[in-house]
Amino acid sequence: MTGETKWGCTHNERQPVSSTCAAIWAAPACLPRVSSIQLWWATRVHSPHHSLWSLQWPSTRLSANISPRFPGSQPFGSVPLTPVVSQPTVLQPYGPPPTSAQVTAQLAGMQISGAVAPALPPVGLGYGSPASLASASGSFPNPGLYGSYPQGQAPPLSQAQGHLGAQPPQRSAPPQASTFTSPASGGPRMPSMTGPFLPGQGFGGPSLSQPNHVSSPPPQALPPGTQMTGPPGPPPPMHSSQQPGYQLQQNGSFGPARGPQPNYGSPYPGAPTFGSQPGPPQPLPPKRLDPDAIPSPIQVIEDDRNNRGSEPFVTGVRGQVPPLVTTNFLVKDQGNASPRYIRCTSYNIPCTSDMAKQAQVPLAAVIKPLARLPPEEVSPYVVDHGESGPLRCNRCKAYMCPFMQFIEGGRRFQCCFCSCINDVPPQYFQHLDHTGKRVDAYDRPELSLGSYEFLATVDYCKNNKFPSPPAFIFMIDVSYNAIRSGLVRLLCEELKSLLDFLPREGGTEESAIRVGFVTYNKVLHFYNVKSSLAQPQMMVVSDVADMFVPLLDGFLVNVSESRAVITSLLDQIPEMFADTRETETVFAPVIQAGMEALKAAECAGKLFLFHTSLPIAEAPGKLKNRDDRKLINTDKEKTLFQPQTGAYQTLAKECVAQGCCVDLFLFPNQYVDVATLSVVPQLTGGSVYKYACFQVENDQERFLSDLRRDVQKVVGFDAVMRVRTSTGIRAVDFFGAFYMSNTTDVELAGLDGDKTVTVEFKHDDRLNEESGALLQCALLYTSCAGQRRLRIHNLALNCCTQLADLYRNCETDTLINYMAKFAYRGVLNSPVKTVRDTLITQCAQILACYRKNCASPSSAGQLILPECMKLLPVYLNCVLKSDVLQPGAEVTTDDRAYVRQLVTSMDVAETNVFFYPRLLPLTKSPIESATEPPAVRASEERLSNGDIYLLENGLNLFLWVGASVQQGVVQSLFNVSSFSQITSGLSVLPVLDNPLSKKVRGLIDSLRAQRSRYMKLIVVKQEDKLEMLFKHFLVEDKSLSGGASYVDFLCHMHKEIRQLLS
Ligand SMILES: [Zn+2]
Repeated sequence: MTGETKWGCTHNERQPVSSTCAAIWAAPACLPRVSSIQLWWATRVHSPHHSLWSLQWPSTRLSANISPRFPGSQPFGSVPLTPVVSQPTVLQPYGPPPTSAQVTAQLAGMQISGAVAPALPPVGLGYGSPASLASASGSFPNPGLYGSYPQGQAPPLSQAQGHLGAQPPQRSAPPQASTFTSPASGGPRMPSMTGPFLPGQGFGGPSLSQPNHVSSPPPQALPPGTQMTGPPGPPPPMHSSQQPGYQLQQNGSFGPARGPQPNYGSPYPGAPTFGSQPGPPQPLPPKRLDPDAIPSPIQVIEDDRNNRGSEPFVTGVRGQVPPLVTTNFLVKDQGNASPRYIRCTSYNIPCTSDMAKQAQVPLAAVIKPLARLPPEEVSPYVVDHGESGPLRCNRCKAYMCPFMQFIEGGRRFQCCFCSCINDVPPQYFQHLDHTGKRVDAYDRPELSLGSYEFLATVDYCKNNKFPSPPAFIFMIDVSYNAIRSGLVRLLCEELKSLLDFLPREGGTEESAIRVGFVTYNKVLHFYNVKSSLAQPQMMVVSDVADMFVPLLDGFLVNVSESRAVITSLLDQIPEMFADTRETETVFAPVIQAGMEALKAAECAGKLFLFHTSLPIAEAPGKLKNRDDRKLINTDKEKTLFQPQTGAYQTLAKECVAQGCCVDLFLFPNQYVDVATLSVVPQLTGGSVYKYACFQVENDQERFLSDLRRDVQKVVGFDAVMRVRTSTGIRAVDFFGAFYMSNTTDVELAGLDGDKTVTVEFKHDDRLNEESGALLQCALLYTSCAGQRRLRIHNLALNCCTQLADLYRNCETDTLINYMAKFAYRGVLNSPVKTVRDTLITQCAQILACYRKNCASPSSAGQLILPECMKLLPVYLNCVLKSDVLQPGAEVTTDDRAYVRQLVTSMDVAETNVFFYPRLLPLTKSPIESATEPPAVRASEERLSNGDIYLLENGLNLFLWVGASVQQGVVQSLFNVSSFSQITSGLSVLPVLDNPLSKKVRGLIDSLRAQRSRYMKLIVVKQEDKLEMLFKHFLVEDKSLSGGASYVDFLCHMHKEIRQLLS
């Protein structure tokens, strides 16, 4: 049966393509590069005496436990420099801008001192009896609150004076000799552990209190029917990851087997082994920088949790840096948008573009307009201004917000964005109090809150018509591969129940969303599931070159009305195609058909595509296999990330015009060209999921979890986002899953609560310290029930004339989010190496500018990092060695395109854990402990072979089992009697009735609940083949693909910075 009657109206309304999406694919501005990591290694190999970094191991100094010395007065000639981290003592978690004294205090960033190499004798880094370096360089690092530093050493004068005035006493006073702790000399590699402890500081690791830091808990999974908006309804359960009584990381407690990493070889090519000489150094083998002495992500995360996790973050004060994304905290909206909606790279913007250029700190905001909130927080109120609609500035069209200034007794208001004076409409008039504030300010969300919604009037609707409720169309590949893998049967079975959980709004019993069904291989089959039918009807369209929708009535239906017919259809689909031999598929015509169907029904909506293979059938959008790994590391590598035809961009544009969002579920057995297939999902605000070599028995849990979440999540349709700014800065660049046809409007066919848009700002005028800078993000969208709404988020930032204020209010996690997205877009246009070098150069410039302008004068040999950016090097290194920028041999072209696409719309919490995975020891803390165990640093040397660890990065989840794990633990967890009997690659733990098994399975469930995608578990045994896969995620180590270790990269950054300063 072929119903090839063309249905007229669907067919002749295609818009001419008038513009390409230049804004989205624009090339990054490439900065001049200085040198690469690889080059630097070569330098090290060839000049082992040219030490960039000199260190003082506490053990060296322990023997000389004597009175303070000053530079130049070294009593013994073998004191190398040491990494010193100075910690501001005046902390300012909340409240108004700090005083100058506080500024000074917080200015004091972390400092790691090293020798000025060329002029110095071979010291440090492994040279046993360093000459009296201190007297040679005349500069000693400033002792800080933690870190190993020359015992009893006085700070350099310059440091003590401080260029901004007062220094906290801790910074200028050398620590007491008694504070030194004997290095845990058990480690074979290092003669030292972390270095001196502070009095009262009960642990060896650096104490990196960081009150000025940002973050928010990861998004939580929502149950069916949970609403984003409207009156606060019953909140979703929150899977708490709060960890109050955290046990602090103990130095040296992780792994007796600390030594050279067995599989990575020496950190420096050609270097002999490290660390085999714990005693006073013999003159030969170079020592590595002590990993415990460099900034630890774990410690920073811990400190922020401890300092900021207990009290709510109140948004009333301009320019406040929120807690880190890894900290669990509540937010109280008092006039600025919650950090769950907007996070900035800096909360204090330089007043001038010259300053901004000097600092090179990207000014960007990561915006998640429909972010889900924890149950304790209130969803944005919906404001209904009736027929007059939301009140806006006549000139710049900004929406009414708490920063608008009412004047003339309340009859007019001055726009806070463009300064235009506007009349207050009579129906909105209200008197002002003695402070000039409207007396009804606190009764109106738009006058008192950072985030709220307006009901939109018909003026905000397409064709001046209120929208119909959206529709979901399920489009199922029924070619041979899809049938054989069991996918089609599994999916159809699941849909029968899942359709009862379509997103609803405002506590309504039934979803307003209508559904439709299409199956396809190289032809398309539409189904009539009208409620009056006894059986569904199929209509085949084989003219894929000129797609049309063969039926209107009965294609999109209400689930409850047509339930019987739908169930019958879903029962029949697997049977109908059970014997198919058809291996070829089409792809673009499927999207075209879905989009035409929505157009015919005059509604927005979402297509759920389940697709298995490279679409090679003769049709528009036909693709060829162009995978070519030989292109890696060549100038043509970028083509692997680019779509192979422009057809999909054209199609995406049509979809966006219709409000047709596309979610793509891929089940490839081989190359499917993700780079091309993901173009439409990417440009329509959709999601891509990939299940390579899908098999029902192994992958069904992951697929079904993702599917359930994806179908149930609340989506805004047919959306347009605009970011307005106060005079002086403007939004110039945008990153994310969307389409732009002009330079200001971000068009999103669909936008869900997981998606972010990263926006970069540039100066176009001078900013003012007093008035600060304002952002207003307005999202116009159609809700799941078909209501047209505007969601408004406002954020006020400080502005500064001192660079120090910029550096003091930065948010490194957000910076990394921006930089990763910038780089991942850059690979579309530039060689990957150029992109990596650009990142390194920018990072060096940021840190060099701090060093030059904000840090106290000190030896060029010191690496000084701003307190708020001390993790920038370690995180940046993780981005540099990620699969997109430096792929290992096992990473496929499709994997890289997939990850590139995923990162593009990740929020800050997601990029944080994606680039620096969380590694949790499972048997270190007591089984009874209800909280998540404290994480350890992602490095092999932190693994103890007597323990078990979980590692997760938001996409992957590993359970690593050490070879010497106690038999009892093995039994409790795996129900086998010995390590050798554990099945490597296991993906499900047996359900056993003992505390350890329950705890570990519970932890796995809780980790999964925190992430937007289901993480499939892989059990990895120490020394097993699969371990290589696991080690890929130990990001502080040197990677097999050539990525630098954290220590090496930090040294490299130091060198880059020094080159910039010289
Ligand atoms: Zn205005």
